[in-house]
Amino acid sequence: MRQKPRLFLVLGDQLHPDPHPLLSGVTPDDFVLMAEVAEESTHVWSHKARTTLFLSAMRHFAAHWRNRCRLTYLLLGTHSLHSLSEVLEDFVLHHPEVSTISVLEPGDARLARALVDCAQRLQKPLTVLPDPHFLCARDEFEHWAQRGERSTDNLRMEFFYRWMRRRTGVLMRDDLPVGGQWNFDAENRSGFGKNGPPPVPLPVRFVPDVITQSVMRDVEQVFPEHPGSLADFAWPVTPDEARAALHDFIVHRLPSFGQWQDAMWQGEAFLWHSLLAAAMNLKLLDPRDVIAEAEAAYLNGAAPLAAVEGFVRQILGWREFVRGVYWRHESAWPTANALNAAQPLPQWFWTGQTGAACLKAAITQTLEFGYAHHIQRLMVTGNFALLAGLHPRAVADWYLAVYVDAIAWVEEPNTLGMALFAIGGRMTSKPYIASGAYIKRMSNYCKGCVYRPEARTGPKACPFTTLYWDFLMRHDAMLRANPRMAMAYKNLDRLTSEEQTAIRAWAQIRLEQIDSV
Ligand code: FAD
Ligand code: SF4
Repeated sequence: MRQKPRLFLVLGDQLHPDPHPLLSGVTPDDFVLMAEVAEESTHVWSHKARTTLFLSAMRHFAAHWRNRCRLTYLLLGTHSLHSLSEVLEDFVLHHPEVSTISVLEPGDARLARALVDCAQRLQKPLTVLPDPHFLCARDEFEHWAQRGERSTDNLRMEFFYRWMRRRTGVLMRDDLPVGGQWNFDAENRSGFGKNGPPPVPLPVRFVPDVITQSVMRDVEQVFPEHPGSLADFAWPVTPDEARAALHDFIVHRLPSFGQWQDAMWQGEAFLWHSLLAAAMNLKLLDPRDVIAEAEAAYLNGAAPLAAVEGFVRQILGWREFVRGVYWRHESAWPTANALNAAQPLPQWFWTGQTGAACLKAAITQTLEFGYAHHIQRLMVTGNFALLAGLHPRAVADWYLAVYVDAIAWVEEPNTLGMALFAIGGRMTSKPYIASGAYIKRMSNYCKGCVYRPEARTGPKACPFTTLYWDFLMRHDAMLRANPRMAMAYKNLDRLTSEEQTAIRAWAQIRLEQIDSV
């Protein structure tokens, strides 16, 4: 007897290469549905490059599958369905013979809930399959998180990372880390010093093809007011391009990745970073391949262990860890605000028009490329948002909007959990805060700035420095007892009460005039 057709919904960040984990069992009778919907670009005010990247990768994926299954693909601007739920509802109403709906687990709890609700309304069974892209499944993470080795709910990436190294055998020999240590931070994370970086290898660029160009036109037409530029769009949009980007990184930048991982330099947006997050997050690239290539570079002598370990830690450790944390605290993110921060987001976050050279550089390159590297996100924009007490929801929505690699499962825990300490100590042991002295040490931004990193008060005072001391005083009751904050409070206590009063007064002025920082 002929079976009723099933419906397979492919989401925009589930563009795995063949064999696709959702589509491998599809028969010619089954339906496959993909849709470009406005809501995914408008629920936060998405950067044009972010929307273009998603839609171009989706259209390339559809081109690959079009003749191999019964694919329905809805193009942006050619239909009036606003959300994926509306698309699903409309499709099933027109194809009532659909027996079941299947989807890989979404990377956004909001969308996951919407799809469950929609299937219920349609009275069709929904199967949500685990995404084999990740090295640690959600239930495995939960199992790890509940093991007896921690006495509290406060999870630490370092323990998770070691567990993942042991489970996968990556950079391991006889259950011990290769090189005799788990961590090479002492050799990594230097600044460039006065002379600046050596010549920076330019990353490979992927010139927009016909498909990408048509997406760019559509995005400019449908979202003309959205932030960001498409002038420099050169991101990989297919699995082949993603592999070429990986190869380019392994050969040209991995050997120095660790050493310059935290450094920043005016006019250098990419430095030795991999630029692979977006390709991995769209699933064009398998993290196992990325890790294997990096490990092979160490084994064949092409890259030092410190660089390779530093890089592997980001993918096997941080990337998998934040995903586990995202789902573990799924309900916390929409309202997370442990420090009761309430300042609105300054307008210059959308323009880069600020006198603070470090913020200007990070935001300007973000608007230009949809990219800033980790320390720019954490210790420049994130640090400022935390010190200034910007409202976590506004900040998280900004990060979700402006980065090409932004998807809820990775953006929310990084922004709310790590950068803003908005779920307290559940993800990091202390807030990541630093004064202008840190930014001065790790970059040359301060040289071209209207502010002075060492000045705490007065019109020339670095906003980071003023707000750093003010932050410690503002959150004294909550943070002083934290052993990892002991040094910061010891330094605060060295300031006279007159100095502390002057800082508080100046911080007040700075916060009242935050739009003109
Ligand atoms: P590299 O510096 O080359 O690092 C290698 C890879 O490691 C990255 O491609 C990424 O896949 C992984 N990685 C490194 N750090 C992290 C981390 N903390 N969490 C998850 N993966 C990590 N990353 C995203 O992919 N999407 C986001 O929306 C995102 N938002 C962030 C927001 C804030 C406030 C902060 C502090 C970090 C955020 N990150 C996010 C993590 C990190 O900054 C980016 O993954 C990285 O900058 C991407 O550039 P890259 O590919 O050149 O990374
Ligand atoms: Fe940034 Fe302060 Fe340095 Fe200016 S002085 S670049 S605001 S850290």
